[in-house]
Amino acid sequence: MRSRWLEKLAETLWEYLARAAIAHIATALGFVAPVIYLGLTKGVAFFTRPASVSGWLLALGTGALLSSLLWTVLTIVRQRARPHTKYAWRGLEWPLRAAFWGNYEHFRAEDMAASFLSDCLGGPFCGSCKRAVAVRLEGKGEPCPHCGARFDWRGLKVSEELKRADPTEAARRAAYVDAQGDARAHRM
Ligand SMILES: [Zn+2]
Repeated sequence: MRSRWLEKLAETLWEYLARAAIAHIATALGFVAPVIYLGLTKGVAFFTRPASVSGWLLALGTGALLSSLLWTVLTIVRQRARPHTKYAWRGLEWPLRAAFWGNYEHFRAEDMAASFLSDCLGGPFCGSCKRAVAVRLEGKGEPCPHCGARFDWRGLKVSEELKRADPTEAARRAAYVDAQGDARAHRM
């Protein structure tokens, strides 16, 4: 129990570092590294003599290039390191796609068109048999048409109009709201 708790803490800390601190520090270091390197190898005079404009240009140009390269590499690493690729919600499984991670900090479900919402949250799939399902949002425990596992709709608040028109989209909107909350609170 204790090691699980420690594991979770280490995971959260690492995620925070990987997401924010390391990226910013590494990019800043990449930017100043050429200035420091040239200063150390060629002396301060490299930057102060009359023709030093080209010295600064060389150092800052290389720094800008290096830091943008580092930023790109770190962004790719951070995206690949994301451990949560699906969201378990009321017995259903929703794949969290790249668009979700690119937008969950900014957009509310009601600001998103249905097609964009499906770009963020794929599926749904049954959490038990993993098959694709279309939900009806009927009853308290709607059974999976494939395996009979129950999807739990107790306390679910969705627009009645949308529920009649497209219950799967209504469920997707509700799932997005919960997934977004969990992601923003670092609960997943
Ligand atoms: Zn099933």
